[in-house]
Amino acid sequence: MIPGGVNSPVRAMRSVGLDRPLFAERGWGAYLETADGRTLCDWVQSWGPLIFGHADEETVEAVREAASRGTSFGAATEAEVELAVEVVEAVPSVESVRLVSSGTEAAMSALRLARGATRRDRVITFAGCYHGHADPFLASAGSGLATLGIPSSPGVPTGVIADTIVCEYNDVDGVASAVERYGEGLAAIFVEPVAGNMGCVPPTGGFLEALRLLCDASGALLVFDEVITGFRVARGGAQERLGVVPDLTVLGKIVGGGLPLAAFGGRRDVMAQLAPSGRVYQAGTLSGNPLATAAGLSVLRRLRDPFVYEELERRAARLAGGLAPFGTVQAVGAMLTLFPGREEPVERFASLDADRYGALFRGLLGHGIYIAPSPYECLFPSLAHGDAEIDATVAAVGHVLGFAG
Ligand SMILES: *Cc1c(COP(=O)(O)O)cnc(C)c1O
Repeated sequence: MIPGGVNSPVRAMRSVGLDRPLFAERGWGAYLETADGRTLCDWVQSWGPLIFGHADEETVEAVREAASRGTSFGAATEAEVELAVEVVEAVPSVESVRLVSSGTEAAMSALRLARGATRRDRVITFAGCYHGHADPFLASAGSGLATLGIPSSPGVPTGVIADTIVCEYNDVDGVASAVERYGEGLAAIFVEPVAGNMGCVPPTGGFLEALRLLCDASGALLVFDEVITGFRVARGGAQERLGVVPDLTVLGKIVGGGLPLAAFGGRRDVMAQLAPSGRVYQAGTLSGNPLATAAGLSVLRRLRDPFVYEELERRAARLAGGLAPFGTVQAVGAMLTLFPGREEPVERFASLDADRYGALFRGLLGHGIYIAPSPYECLFPSLAHGDAEIDATVAAVGHVLGFAG
C-alpha cells in the first residue's frame, strides 16, 4: 500500500541490508519497542527531536492539554508568540521567527526569503549537507539520497538546479572561488554549521568565519541550517557554541518536541519581507499548530536550565570516549558519529563503507541496540540515555566489531 513500505526512504533500512523496516510500537525514554516485540535502546530518537527521550511525560501532558482545547484553528494563538519568544531568546541570530511544519518547509522558505530579500537567485550549498527535499537543494547527495546511492532525484527540473552551486564542506578556497565567480548573483550560502548528514563533521578552524566574510563581501545572506544542531549542541545552537552569527537560521527537530513543527528566523529587516508585512509569499494551514506548539514550548522552556547541556555534554563525552577505540569518533555536544575502523578524520563528504556499517547495524540490533540505519547519520544522546545505556552500547559495539573485553 505504501511505496517501499515507508513514508520516508531511509526507514526502509535497505542500506543496512534489512529486507523489511522495523515497525515502532511504542517508546519510553531511551527505549523503543517494536511491533514484533523487541525492546531496543534507541540512539535514533526520531532522528534527533527527542532530547528528553520517548513519551516524555511533560511533553505528552502538554499535547494532551492542548488537544483538549482544539487541534487546529488556522488562527493566531498566544502559544505561538510564547514559542517565538523562546526561540528569539535562545538563538543569537533570530530576532523574528516564523513557524512551519517541517525542516524541508523551513529551509525551502528561508531560501525563497533570501532570494526575495537580495533579489538574486543563486545559492551555494555543500556536498553532504542536507536541507530537506525541496527542489533547489537536491543538486547534491543528501542523507536519504546518499544512502540509496542516487546522485540526485528525477523530477527536479534542471532549470531549478541551475542556480545551485555545490561546494565541498570545509573547503574555504573552493567557496571563495565560487563566490568570486557567482558572487554578484548570489542570494545565500546555506550550510549546516556542524554537518550531521554525512556523519557528524564539525567545521574546521575558520570555515564558518570565512563563510561569514564571503557573505558580507558579496551581499549574500548566510543561512545556518540548524535543524539538527539547534537546541542540541547548545541552547542557542552551533551559532552560540561556535560564535558565528548567520543572517537566517533554519530550525526543526528539537524545536517541535517530536511533533511536526519547524521554524526559520533571523534578522528582523529580512524577516519583515515575508507576507503580509512584505511581499515574499509563504504560508501554511497547519503552521503553528497548537499541539506541535505546546510540545515545542514544553521542551524549550526546560532547556533554559544549564544542567541540561552540562549533562548532555557529559553523556556524549562518555559515549564518545567509550567508542574511541573502535574507529574515528567525531562529536560536537550531543551529536556524534563513529566511523568504524577509520583512523583519519572526516572533514568533508566521503563515501562510507555501507557493508561494514550494515554489519554493525545488524549486529547491534541483535544486542538490543538501535542505531541509525545509515552510516551518514549521528548518534543522538538524550537526557533519557543514562550511563547504563551508554556503557551497554559501548560494550555491544566492541563485541560486534570483535574487540575483546
Ligand atoms: C532533518 C533535516 C532537515 C529536514 O527536516 P524534515 O523535517 O525532515 O523535513 C533539514 N535540514 C537538516 C540539517 C536536517 O537534518
